[in-house]
Amino acid sequence: MKAMVLKEICEIKVEGRTQQRNDVPLKTEPLELEDVPAPEPGPKDIVIKVSACGICRTELDQVEGRISPPKLPVILGHQPVGIVSGLGKNVIKFKIGDRAGATWIYSSCGKCKFCRSGEENLCEQFKGTGCHENGGYAEYMIISEDHAHKIPDSLDDLIHIAPLMCSGVVGYRSLKLTGMEDGKNIGLYGFGSAHHLVIQMVNFLFPNAKKFVISRNPAERQLAKKLGADWVGDIEDKTPEKLDCIIDTTPVWKPVVFALGNLEKGGRLVINLIRKEDADKDYLLKLDYPKHLWLEKEIKTVANITIKDGEEFLAVAARMKIKPEVQLYELEDANKALVELKSGKLTGSRVLKITST
Ligand SMILES: [Zn+2]
Ligand SMILES: [Zn+2]
Repeated sequence: MKAMVLKEICEIKVEGRTQQRNDVPLKTEPLELEDVPAPEPGPKDIVIKVSACGICRTELDQVEGRISPPKLPVILGHQPVGIVSGLGKNVIKFKIGDRAGATWIYSSCGKCKFCRSGEENLCEQFKGTGCHENGGYAEYMIISEDHAHKIPDSLDDLIHIAPLMCSGVVGYRSLKLTGMEDGKNIGLYGFGSAHHLVIQMVNFLFPNAKKFVISRNPAERQLAKKLGADWVGDIEDKTPEKLDCIIDTTPVWKPVVFALGNLEKGGRLVINLIRKEDADKDYLLKLDYPKHLWLEKEIKTVANITIKDGEEFLAVAARMKIKPEVQLYELEDANKALVELKSGKLTGSRVLKITST
């Protein structure tokens, strides 16, 4: 089968940006197209013939080594959706021909205190799809039936479902963690794949909420307005009202400081990101305790997702008929997609179209 494989950590070359590291090679094509054997399912695994796979910013972190991939070479991709084309002998939840997808959670131990309490996202043995095990930048992948999701019938088009599997599910978890309630003000810092879905969730779940979108990218601000933002602004802007909840998805530190300045007393800032880049870390020295932290402001991070998050979110998505804005690429063009993602040129979600059904 065809797959796009990550073999070594590198820095992705982006026009107009200077090289930041000299310990790794600089590449415009970090992944290699290869013909590899199709995976064989274990007893509880399903084989997914991958129709489409969403592209996530986490893949930039993997390629550039901010998350050290425990496995190299690895097939990236944790937002695959497709058709079940093979079954392990003990599979009971799926049958051939079902529509199935996977999320970032590939497996967890199932036994530790976190797993037992439904917080398998915090399990020490958490394994990420397309990170610890091969993911969906390929024609076929395997995953245990307990970690795969059935795609609800009312979500019709697999291409538009792919970005829901991470941006959507993790966006949903981050929204849950803010403690958001109807009528409150929410701020969204950065307006990429996750937040253009989160704003649609807020519209649906909290119709009386006010939504403030903060992005350095004018195209993202424009998309935010189209999707119902009450106010849009740039990173250093003071919001016209204090924000009860904020979710930050930007890869850097400066927005955290400005977000805390806009946060209401007792409010919570949720950082939805696996790793921040170090380039502007010094900005944190501008943190002023009374202005940014005192009066019971909270900061929380989002780590991974649980199986329940996936189930809950897909049910919500089916009810609200969420519609991501999609930029489509062929599997072979995954490198182009990663370069464009890093350069921040396009809005919405990027999706690889892999096999036809
Ligand atoms: Zn992701
Ligand atoms: Zn565990």
